[in-house]
Amino acid sequence: MKKGRDEDFNVIVGIGGGKTLDTAKAVAHFMSVPVITVPTTASSNAPVSALSVIYTPEGEFEEYLYLPKNPDVVLVDSRIIAEAPVRFLVAGMGDALAAKFEAEAAYRGTSEHISGGLSTVTTLTMAQACFETLLENGYEAKLAVEANAVTPAVEKVIEANILLSGKTGGLAAAHSIHNGLTRLEETKNLYHGEKVAFAVIAQMVMEDRAPEEIQEVIEFCISIGLPVTLEQMGLKDAGRDRLMVAAEAACAEKETIHNMPFPVNPEMVLDSLLGADALGREFMI
Ligand SMILES: [Zn+2]
Repeated sequence: MKKGRDEDFNVIVGIGGGKTLDTAKAVAHFMSVPVITVPTTASSNAPVSALSVIYTPEGEFEEYLYLPKNPDVVLVDSRIIAEAPVRFLVAGMGDALAAKFEAEAAYRGTSEHISGGLSTVTTLTMAQACFETLLENGYEAKLAVEANAVTPAVEKVIEANILLSGKTGGLAAAHSIHNGLTRLEETKNLYHGEKVAFAVIAQMVMEDRAPEEIQEVIEFCISIGLPVTLEQMGLKDAGRDRLMVAAEAACAEKETIHNMPFPVNPEMVLDSLLGADALGREFMI
């Protein structure tokens, strides 16, 4: 930031993963210059989103820095994405999985979301297309990237992870639960999208979604290697008290969990985490 102020740059280019791109977007915003993002992984929708996530040096979620616009140019080379470790692509699918469920919750709710307006049919449709793209192509894309191959399935999943999951439909419980989980150092080694995937299942449990619908998501997560149990989250021995730390943080005043169409309290989040874990363990067998 200091370098940006001291020298005369007329554009900022961010090349790298989510945190690098979020940093580039924030710096460009404060310098009032355009920003170009060049993602080297498809691990989240950070390349296109109009926000930067601020974490503490310990990796705990601190706040969202909402930006007035999306990046000016997003440049994606599928070959580079396919040569990155497959875990990034899989984590990106976990993040993208949230789009449909958070958009639907925000649509049913009445809160304005980050772009300043209410949800629309357009954002819901994009989120639904994102979900269908993942389910149809996710497993095949994972196998292809393991072989460092760029196939049509890989191209579609890259588009879903980066563009379709743009969260223009708003955030809701899943990302708040993710933010709460960052308070537990046991989850430190998990990527953003891996935590979000488990949080999506918890949100679905909280919403009392149909068992077949939850099962479809859990089985998809298992098929591509996203966590579905507390044990996989590094939280096998975390009791209620420990999980309550995350649940309370998930319900902090500014959290998007309050975009849910019903009031949510920490007890509900805690029970949803345990409920998601119970279902995940059932399907892992
Ligand atoms: Zn995310």
